[in-house]
Amino acid sequence: MSRESAEAKGRRYLTEGRLQVLEFGPGVIRATCRGDGAVHRLGWWHGRWGCSCPAGTFGRQCAHLVALRLVAVEPTFAAAGAWRAAAGRRDSVA
Ligand SMILES: [Zn+2]
Repeated sequence: MSRESAEAKGRRYLTEGRLQVLEFGPGVIRATCRGDGAVHRLGWWHGRWGCSCPAGTFGRQCAHLVALRLVAVEPTFAAAGAWRAAAGRRDSVA
């Protein structure tokens, strides 16, 4: 059996519903991902991606971060401003 790559594993985790995004805001993303046997905490904070799993703590792109980054981009303050602008437009229509 060939070893599954982090990329393939991340995609599988996402389709299996193992990723749960808890918080998404300006400058921070908090999520959990159920891996093989353990639930890991991961996200974006202090300007970088991080994960509590052994691979993630060494700054490597683990399968959990692959899954998260398929649905999220770095929450920059510019993106937050665009989000607020869109929300404002929606409020004015409602
Ligand atoms: Zn990880």
